[in-house]
Amino acid sequence: MPKKKVKKVVNKENIRHDGRKLSELRPIKLEVGILGNADGSAYIEQGKNKILAGVYGPKEVHPKHLALPDRSRLRCRYHMAPFSVQERKSPAPSRRDIELSKVIREAFEPSVFTEYYPKTSIDIFIEVLQADGGTRCASITAASLALADAGIPLRDLVSACAAGKVDGRIVLDLNDKEDKEGEADLPLAYMSNLNAITLLQMDGMLTSEEFEQAINLALEGCNQIYQLQKEALKAKYVEVKETMNEGADEQ
Ligand code: ADP
Repeated sequence: MPKKKVKKVVNKENIRHDGRKLSELRPIKLEVGILGNADGSAYIEQGKNKILAGVYGPKEVHPKHLALPDRSRLRCRYHMAPFSVQERKSPAPSRRDIELSKVIREAFEPSVFTEYYPKTSIDIFIEVLQADGGTRCASITAASLALADAGIPLRDLVSACAAGKVDGRIVLDLNDKEDKEGEADLPLAYMSNLNAITLLQMDGMLTSEEFEQAINLALEGCNQIYQLQKEALKAKYVEVKETMNEGADEQ
């Protein structure tokens, strides 16, 4: 019987199944300040991922005994909507949701000046509306903009992106198919100006050379995302300025 040909995720010409080159990010759209009732908010589309981030605070902590005497308590809730994946996901927090909430919070600890706001909390809410791989990184990119939009002093924006190994090749920004069928996935969060990594995880196997290559590629991806984040923040403030000018003209 002829052997069934298995379709590769990356072809011989190093083109991925979605048409991207090995070191190419998925198309990214960022919007800042879209939730009226949050102190800061942002929305990201990265490929088929669609994610909202809302920030509340600094504000009084509830319950009160959680307040820290010398700094603000940073809290994060990552949540995937039941309709965000093909099979309905239970709305209750899964082990994965709890793990991602923790690692995302930790990715911001080095960035936020929590010491400016003792006895308060800063809450980050992340709602994944549609998931297609790499949602923890896209969530960090959006939440960082939401924190900046809330006016919370940051040492630097945090940008995040994964690299990994698929069909023996090191690739940037894996989507769900590549994540599931690939050999390794390495999500990374980074403060570009400070040259500091705030999150590094790895799933799968890489040689030490491949590991280095993947980190460098993920860092390149983060630097590109950092530029897009800065543009998205600027766009919000240009919009605010124009609205204010229009208001002044009408008076
Ligand atoms: P990340 O989204 O950060 O890559 P994972 O590696 O855990 O995190 O998940 C990879 C992808 O698997 C997600 O982006 C999503 O597309 C899919 N996924 C995660 N949880 C579920 C689930 N409960 N049901 C279906 N797909 C899921």
